[in-house]
Parts: sequence; structure tokens; C-alpha cells
Amino acid sequence: MFSVSYELNAIAPATTQAGGYPDDNRLPVSSVIANIMATTTFLNHAIHQEVMISNRARSILRLMASFDCEDHRPKCARCNRVAQDQFKNIQDIHRVASENKLVQKATRHKTPTPTRARKVTRPYMLALAPIREWRASLEKDLELLAAQLPVADWARQQKGFGLLRLGFIIGETGDLSNYATKEKVWKRMGLAIAPDGKAQRRVRGSDAIEMGFNPRRRAVMYVVGDCLIRQKGHYKAIYDQRKEYEKQAHPELPLIVLHRRAKRYMEKALLADLWQEWQRTTAA
Ligand SMILES: [Zn+2]
Repeated sequence: MFSVSYELNAIAPATTQAGGYPDDNRLPVSSVIANIMATTTFLNHAIHQEVMISNRARSILRLMASFDCEDHRPKCARCNRVAQDQFKNIQDIHRVASENKLVQKATRHKTPTPTRARKVTRPYMLALAPIREWRASLEKDLELLAAQLPVADWARQQKGFGLLRLGFIIGETGDLSNYATKEKVWKRMGLAIAPDGKAQRRVRGSDAIEMGFNPRRRAVMYVVGDCLIRQKGHYKAIYDQRKEYEKQAHPELPLIVLHRRAKRYMEKALLADLWQEWQRTTAA
């Protein structure tokens, strides 16, 4: 898929002091971007593995919960909740055990997870550990690579954004110089207006190509949006303002819809600014 070789190992030592080494040690931007995209491919793979294994563990917990469920039904909400809860608890135990401290903390959980549940999920938890380690190291790589992009300083300054989130986006868009307008970036990341005037979304059949919607890329922006809102910076202010505007314009809409609209608006604002900053810093 990538024409440029995967050069992370070669550059990793030079990037340990982000920004603190001479320009001539840096890779050309095109090479940094190619590495970011390759790293993102591996990262998506790691995340996919993590999700699949976690889902298997939860599903076996759900099955076990159903044995004790008095009025069990298909897609039983009660068993779902039990499985979620136990999975979280078991994760805590494993995390804490691997850090080799505070084992009491995990056992203080309000509904103790049965030993048999811990037993059956043990292989999954053991399988998750190296995948999570791999994921963390890929995220570190991604951050170091993103630090070499011309927009790195700008990304660092945006509260709740930063180098990792910048890496996530560039990993999906590639070189932003290839996008003639900000609208094209929005479309790539699943935030455009569809030909029918509604929000870009997943559709079936022949319309899917024109819609060009990729749920994973939309999810990247969703997570970026969450981080921006949590950190209460410039983009949170944009979100607040837009939510107020939506509330005035559509008082009949439920709060969650207003929230989603304002969040989407803020996510688009971030992409527009990123695109603009990219044009500014790469224009020579
Ligand atoms: Zn049930």
C-alpha cells in the first residue's frame, strides 16, 4: 500500500528530543507523512485486535451471566451490564497486577467478580497485554513523527489537541497540501454534507462510493472532539457558542442533538484551521 519503506527504526533515536535538533537531521515532510500513514495502519490493526479480543472476553462473560439470569432474553440488558462490569473489574485487576502494586484496590470493587469469570477471561487478558503495549509504542512513534510536521507547534498550542491527535488525522488524510479546499478535508474525515443535503454517513449500494464515508475516519474526529471539549480551550469555546446558537435556532431539539451538532461544528472548525495552518507553514 505504501511506496515508501517503513523507516521508523532509522529515525527514532533522532526524534527523542522533539524539536531540539538541527533541521538537516530531519526527514523530508513527504517521508514523515508516509511514516505517519504507515504507523497509523499498524495502529488501526492493533486497535482492531484489541477490540476483537475484548469483545470475545465480554461475550464469554455474558454467556456466564446468562446461567444465573432469572428472566434471560436475547440481547439481555442485565447480562450485558454484568459482563461490562466484570470486564472492567478484571481489566483493573490485570492492570494493577502487572504494575505489581495496590492489589487491594482491585479487590475492593463493590461487586466482586467471581473467580470463574476471572479464570475464563484470563487467556484474553494475557493476549491483550502485548497488544496494548504495541499500541502504546505505536502511539509514541506517531507522536514523535507528528512533532516533525511543519504544523507541530500549532498543534501543541491547541488545548486538547496536541501531537498524537495531529498524527491520527494526518495518518488518515495524508498530505493536506493535496486538498484544494477545507471542504475536501471535511469529506475525507466524514464531516461533509452529502449530496442529499444531510450529514455524510454510511449508505449501502452504489451511493456508497459517492458518499465516501469511512466510519473509522469519522470515529477519529469523534475522539478528537471529545478531547477538545474536555480540555476547555479555544475549541471548547467554539462548541459552547455554537450550542447556544443551535438552542436559540431549534429550541424543540433535545439536548443531545444540540450537543452533537455543536461538536460536529467544532470538529470541522479544527480541521479548517489545521488545513489553513498547513497551507501557511508549507507555503515556500
Ligand atoms: Zn440475562
